Parts: sequence; C-alpha cells; structure tokens
Amino acid sequence: MSRPYFLEQIDDAAVVQYYADGFEALSLRDKTLIWHLAQAVIAGRDIYYDQRYRHALEMREVLEEILTHSAGVDPAVLSEIRRYTKLFWINSGPHNNLTARKFVLACAPAAFREAAHRARRSGAAFPVRGDETLDELLDRLERPFFDAATDAMVTNKTPGEGRDILEASANNLYSGVRMPDLDGFDERYGLNSRLVKRDGRLVEEICRIGGRYGARIAHIVDHLRDALHVAPPATRRTLDALIRFYESGEDDDRAAYDIAWVEDHEADVDTINGFVENYLDARGVKGAWEGLVYLVNHDKTGGLRRLAEDASWFEARMPWDPRWRRETVTGVTARAIEVVVETGDAGPLTPVGINLPNDQRIREQHGSKSVTLTNINEAYEKSQPPAFRREFCWSADEVARAEQWGAIAGEVTTGIHEVLGHGSGRVADHLQGQPQLALKEHYSALEEARADLVALFFLPEPRIGEIGMVPAEHQAEIVRTEYEAYARNALVQLRRVRQGTQLEEDHMRNRQMIVQWLMANAAAIEVRSRDGRTFYVCTDVEAFRHGAGRLLAEVQRIKSEGDYAAASDLFETYGIHFDADLRDEVVRRVDALNLPSYTGFVQPTLEAVTDEVGRITDVRISYPCDLERQMLEYSGKQVVRGSVA
Ligand SMILES: [Zn+2]
Repeated sequence: MSRPYFLEQIDDAAVVQYYADGFEALSLRDKTLIWHLAQAVIAGRDIYYDQRYRHALEMREVLEEILTHSAGVDPAVLSEIRRYTKLFWINSGPHNNLTARKFVLACAPAAFREAAHRARRSGAAFPVRGDETLDELLDRLERPFFDAATDAMVTNKTPGEGRDILEASANNLYSGVRMPDLDGFDERYGLNSRLVKRDGRLVEEICRIGGRYGARIAHIVDHLRDALHVAPPATRRTLDALIRFYESGEDDDRAAYDIAWVEDHEADVDTINGFVENYLDARGVKGAWEGLVYLVNHDKTGGLRRLAEDASWFEARMPWDPRWRRETVTGVTARAIEVVVETGDAGPLTPVGINLPNDQRIREQHGSKSVTLTNINEAYEKSQPPAFRREFCWSADEVARAEQWGAIAGEVTTGIHEVLGHGSGRVADHLQGQPQLALKEHYSALEEARADLVALFFLPEPRIGEIGMVPAEHQAEIVRTEYEAYARNALVQLRRVRQGTQLEEDHMRNRQMIVQWLMANAAAIEVRSRDGRTFYVCTDVEAFRHGAGRLLAEVQRIKSEGDYAAASDLFETYGIHFDADLRDEVVRRVDALNLPSYTGFVQPTLEAVTDEVGRITDVRISYPCDLERQMLEYSGKQVVRGSVA
C-alpha cells in the first residue's frame, strides 16, 4: 500500500511525513510510557527556539496568531506569511539551520502590520509586554522579521579577521560576551547555562528548575514523573537521575544521568531529553536542548548489535597510532530505532544517527549508546525524487548502483559512524577528556570527520559482511556505491549554501574536507565535466579506502593531542571555503529540476484514550501529513478545521 511521504516543498525545503510502524505492536504499558515521554519532549520545545534567537518565541507567536486569525487578511500577504512561518517552524527560528543565515519576510512591513491588525480584530492575542501597543511590538520586531543584516548568522565560527566568534553569532547562548572575556573564567555549567556579561563580570544563568527556563523545565519534569509509574526499573533509575539534574543543574548530576542512561541498554522504549549537542555554540561548549522518544526496531538491530559486540576487534585495527587506541572498549550498545517524536535540536530537522553521551570520560569508562533512525532513513529514501540521482551521477551504472544499494549503503555507513566511529579512540591525559576545549570551533567538524572516516575505512572490511551488516556477496558493490555517493555529496551539498563562499554546518564541513583532501592527496576521486556540468567521480575504490585510512590517522592524532593549529589548517585548506561559480552551477541544476536542499519532518500524532477516572486505556497513533497543523498543535493553538490550508 502506498502512503504519502513527500508532502510539500517550501522554497528549497521538503516537508516529509515519517511513520513509526512498530508502535502498534507495543504493550499498553510501553505505549503509555511513550505518551508521557512525548509530552515531556513537546514541553521542552520552546527552550530551543529561545536558545537559537532571543526574539524567536515572540516572532513565532505573532506569526501563529495571524495564521489562526486570518479572516480578511489580504490573500497574497497571507500566503507570504504562511511560506515564511513554515520555514520558521522547520528551522526553529529565522535562521536556516544549514547555512546559519537569516531569512526574512518578503512582504512590505506595512502589509504585515495591516495583517496583524486584521487578526487582532478577529481575536488574535499578541505577545505585547506590559502596556506596549501592537504597533510598538511590531516596531520592536521589524528588524528581526525584515532585515537580513540584523543578527545575520545564528552561529558564525569564521567571522573573518579581527571579529569575535561569539559577537558575530546571533544565538542566545551568550549575551554581551566576547571570547577574551572567557580567559581565566571558571565555567562551572558548560553545557546547561547561558553566559551573560553583567556589570563587567560574567554570570552563568543555569538552566534548571528555578533558574533559566525554570518554568519550562518544571513542565518537562512533571511529565517525566508521570512516566516513572510505567517505566521498567532501569529506565526509572534513568528518569530519576534526569529529574535530579533538571532540579540541581549540577554537572555531577548530569554525569550521573549520563551513566544511568548508558546503563539502561535493554529498554524497548527510550528517550533523549536535555542539553545535548553543541553545534549551535561557536565555541562548541553549550548544549542545545533536544528531545526524542523512540522504540527499538528488533528486526534491524541484529547487525548493529554484532558490530557493537565486536567493537574491541575493530578498535585494535584502527589505522592510527596505537597510543590512541583504547585498551578495552566497554558498553557500546547499538540499536536500530523508530522515532515517535522529536523536537528542539532534533525536530522537525532530524539526525539519522545518534551516539551519546558526548562526555568523553563517560564514553571511555561506561561506553555509549548508539542509534540509527531507521524510519527517518526510510522516509528520506522514499521521498527522494529520482531526478536527483540522475543529475549528479556520472554514468548509468552509478545511477543503477545508487538505486539498488544506496539505502543499505547509507544505513550501514551511519551505523558504523555511530557505533565504531564516535565510540572509538582515546585522547591524551592532559586534555582531561575534553578535547573540545583545545580544538574549539573545529572540534565538532573534526569529530564528525573522524566518525565518517572510520565508517569509510571499515565498510570494505570482510568482517562487516561476516557479521551480517551487509550481504557478503554484494559488499564490493555496496562499498563502491557508498564511495560514489560520498564523493557526489560534496558537490551536491553546495546547493544548500546559496549565499557566501563558506560552509558553516559541521557535517557539511567535514564531508567537504574529506573529499577535497582525497582529491588532493589520493588518486581516488576525479573532477569531470560534461555539457558544462561538473561531476565528482570515484575512480578507484582501493585508493579511496587507503586515503581514508591515512587521513583518519591524522584526524585522530589531532583530536588526541588537541592540536588546534593542525585542525584549523585542515579545515581552512579543505573544509570551509568553496568556489562560488561551482555552487552557482549546482544551484542552477537543482533549481531546473526543482529539487529540495533539506527536509523537515512531520511526526506521528499520539492521542491518549482515558476512562472515567482519567486512567489511560489506549494510546492511538496517527499521521497528520500536515506541518502547519502539527506545529500549531505543539504551540497549543486551537486549530480550527478548514482554517489550515
Ligand atoms: Zn556523528
């Protein structure tokens, strides 16, 4: 039976529905657990909006009030507001998640003002402060909505000579702070605070109950407490630890939670909820809030489990200096999962694989949990227009391979990236488990490169076939397919950065760095051209693998020693800058085919059925196939049937 995946395209963003087929087969207890955990995840959503941009929540409220009170608004203006709002929802604010650049409303400010006044006459309630008038509110938000040069980039790790990375970044993780202010500052709440300069000194506003985001965190905790009643013992211990961390904000409690979470490895239902990834921070320290709830897909977990069990075997064969190999690899667990809800830094834009915790010391001592999001991979694959592959593949053979093996090649590569990649290696003792402090703005991209290179290096390893990750008789074709796709991607991804000549997003930097390095240092990838169109072609699988191994050894050395100068040199040379003419060519090609650059996902909707005393008797899952409806529901707006076009 065919069901909709691709729903609509807004500018260069695709909107895609994903499905969680495993949900129906769960016990009522597990479904109820998911229900409460999902409420907790939705309760934290707004934290991430505020972290990305200090005006984002007010802006969203203005937009949503207009959309839900739109009678009489000029249809052309309304349609522009709807376009902008959908991009705003997908990116959790007015900055594009990939390019980091701000996008703006394309109608006249006066027309927007008129729409807001109309909406107010229809009952819209705007987020005015005190006795502020609607016009004063709109004056205050005019530059955030309309001026692309105001707060131009959400994260800017390379602002140019003499400019400060914190000052050049519009995110709300810092206020009035410059890098030199941090010299000698004792930062106690690295992950979960906002750093503010007040009366000439630095203050950490700690994210916890009673602190920054206190009310929202208290809501999260209420739902987590409901979840305790239906959680199995190991999950209950984890949730208890998470609640304690949300209460105290102390790093020791965060570590205790991380350890409890890693040790809860048999759970069929699991959640990630907290201040986790640090890509949003130009320094790579502060955690962006994210929430996911997921269930294990047992059918697809077998191969990953074997991979995790074999982690020590692979660690002993890592192609880097034996000093940086781990003696023992403990507790790496890997699962194929189906996500049921994702918010904050994880939704509507989602990763396809996750390996946590990020705390290097806990990884080394307690291991890590690694998940591949199989239903997201499936939705990507099913929503991908066929023209996409045809346009950028050099030969018909390459197209055929991509169609036949692309999905499995991508899934296995993601699995190795997460399980063996992020989980591997050790760093020098003097770094105290925190290489990010030495590698600063290059840390995240370097770590992603390391994990990608581990995957590219081991994909041809016969053991991968032996343990059933791939059918052994097709492994060679799968390797070729992945190497071709990897090379192609470095070209195709340029479509995502339509302005400027540098990459900001860490995964994009890492992928470009690897491909450009291989072009310069190994005879594995050729740049070819036909009919004025450029192609990146993998010409030698052996040379590709050998080159990946050599680069991996150097990337691991840089991480292990915290060699900032070498990291900077590597990314400045290969990873950050690109040729504007080449990008323009790629953009022309995708635009001619109307191909999207990135994807925002619509999630399942859960509905709890209760009896007379309020006890949950069933949890139903459905698929709204409607971004606007879902986003308004998450914001707690009344969605009037028929008002949502
Ligand atoms: Zn990664």
